[in-house]
Amino acid sequence: MTRSIADIVWLHNDLRIADNPLLHFRSPPEQLLCVYVLDERWLEQAIPDQHVARIGPPRLRFLWESLMELRGELLQRGSDLLVRIGSPADEVAHLANQFAARSIRVAQQSGVDENRQISAIVPLLKNGTELEVVENNQLFEQAQLPFTPDALPGSFSAFRRKVEKHCETLTPANPPVTLPPWPDAPRGFPPLKQVCEVSAGWHPDERKDMAWLGGEASGLNRLRAFIWEHKGPATYKQTRNGLLGDNFSTHLSPWLAHGCLSPRQVAQEVRTWEARNGSSESSYWIIFELMWREYFYLAARLDQHRLFGVSGLPSPDAAFVAWQAGKTGVPFIDAAMIELASTGWLSNRARQNVASFLVKDLNVDWRLGATWFEHCLIDYDVASNWGNWRYVAGVGKDPRQDRYFNVLKQASQYDPDGEYVAHWLPELAVLPAGAARHQPWRAAPADFSPPSVEPTAWEPWLIDNMSA
Ligand code: FAD
Repeated sequence: MTRSIADIVWLHNDLRIADNPLLHFRSPPEQLLCVYVLDERWLEQAIPDQHVARIGPPRLRFLWESLMELRGELLQRGSDLLVRIGSPADEVAHLANQFAARSIRVAQQSGVDENRQISAIVPLLKNGTELEVVENNQLFEQAQLPFTPDALPGSFSAFRRKVEKHCETLTPANPPVTLPPWPDAPRGFPPLKQVCEVSAGWHPDERKDMAWLGGEASGLNRLRAFIWEHKGPATYKQTRNGLLGDNFSTHLSPWLAHGCLSPRQVAQEVRTWEARNGSSESSYWIIFELMWREYFYLAARLDQHRLFGVSGLPSPDAAFVAWQAGKTGVPFIDAAMIELASTGWLSNRARQNVASFLVKDLNVDWRLGATWFEHCLIDYDVASNWGNWRYVAGVGKDPRQDRYFNVLKQASQYDPDGEYVAHWLPELAVLPAGAARHQPWRAAPADFSPPSVEPTAWEPWLIDNMSA
């Protein structure tokens, strides 16, 4: 077969034009085929005995919006996008063989399954097609780091100190003005039937704080709005533990998780803000959080399948089902679980509390919680989700048994008036603002059942003891 000078760009969570090394070529191909394959396994059952796919409606919707917008951007530059549903390695290998592609360019992933899919393609290639795996979606390149991948520091703090001393954040690359033309190949999206079955009928709850819209343009809009209109870098450190509203934290995670934005773009915008307004602990803290993301990425690559714990999920028990449904009887937990399921997003403070409650108070296997998050979250990211769950459960890097969140104490600290819980559980609004809304079974026992657990750690925070 005559070799065409066509390259394939195999997209994953890098759905953007700007600062995307996959779209920058040292020697541009004559033709370029950009492909995204929705892994059919994401549509399979994730939790035993439950009709729950690994990808839930909110993320699927955001993903589709992101792909549609990316297609528009690629078309404007003379290229296009092919989207398929199936086995990623098989689909991409088939295309490469069909078009005798010169190379397949793909970004290294943090998840072991995704990286296995990438290496699985090599034996399937028939025409000497090269596989080029590039670094993407991180603040730093491996060559910048003062340690080898397998010598990643065991704690986040040690990692951060080393990185802050040795690494400069790289400047994001501009979007390409034009791209090589499309080969004589299929283009466009697959029939939506399979996807619609998963996302059928889902609409975000009216009480949501943010209207999430997938794609690079809305990601950039959100970034600029938070930095320049809201002046977020001036207040982030004080507000980041908020629960209600759209400006207490950046709310950039869905765009970062899908690669509609790169972390370097976020860091650069913060640095530009600092250059004009002066840096502060608050502006620094946004970069600090991006470093957590970076750390979990590197840890996931190192941990590989260990990230997910031992294989085989247990069947859900009644405690887990109540937690999932927001029916534990603990308003701070139930409000968050309702927000998660009905919007696809949750603040970091709420994520930490519901995860700790499930694992430490209900004694449920943390992997069930992580899998439910994987299904629900718009911003699901294999490294950040499983890494954070392991961290809260005390089984990951830097394990510590004392990482326990006292939910009543947290509720009184972060939602003192019970505004958040009454937002998601309107039946609580009849109770006076304050602790009563977090312990309705004590404030108005006739109307509200007690929760299934009342851990001893709660005692100083129970209404009777607080007023004593
Ligand atoms: P900001 O507070 O504005 O932070 C800016 C960015 O920094 C975030 O968008 C995110 O990319 C990164 N970041 C912040 N905190 C963390 C953190 N603890 N770990 C990793 N990155 C962080 N984040 C995800 O992006 N995807 C997930 O699947 C995910 N699952 C989580 C599961 C649990 C149990 C917990 C406790 C946290 C999880 N997080 C996850 C981390 C964090 O909760 C979210 O990144 C954050 O709440 C998103 O809101 P934001 O964009 O406003 O974050």
